[in-house]
Amino acid sequence: MVPPPASAFPAGGPPPPPLLPALLRGAGGRCPSCGQGRLFRGFLRPAPICSACGTGFARIRSDDAPPYVTLFIVGHVVVPLMLMAERDLAPPLWQMAALFLPLAALLSLALIRPVKGATIGLMLHLGISGDDQASGGA
Ligand SMILES: [Zn+2]
Repeated sequence: MVPPPASAFPAGGPPPPPLLPALLRGAGGRCPSCGQGRLFRGFLRPAPICSACGTGFARIRSDDAPPYVTLFIVGHVVVPLMLMAERDLAPPLWQMAALFLPLAALLSLALIRPVKGATIGLMLHLGISGDDQASGGA
């Protein structure tokens, strides 16, 4: 039997933030732990640490989860709209493309940062870093 991997976060550190506040603070671009410091230092690059409470974000790797969730949401918004437009209006293909391609791109850009922040908040809540080397997992 394989023992569970050790937590990526050292014992004796601050307790993990509650789930809902961590998600909401992260989605708002604030530190999921304290809600005061900034989570990002660029559009999608997390700050190394929280300037208010010192929670480290550099060790947290959300990898492909935020783009996956973003495309999942955008697809569930744009595709039904496309189907309704096709059913009710039957516009030419160029009009469909001219409307829905930019809509999908803008929605993706609008959602990727809040989704990444919420993902980091979820990872902090769960005490996982997404880095198997740091946690000692396989
Ligand atoms: Zn903080």
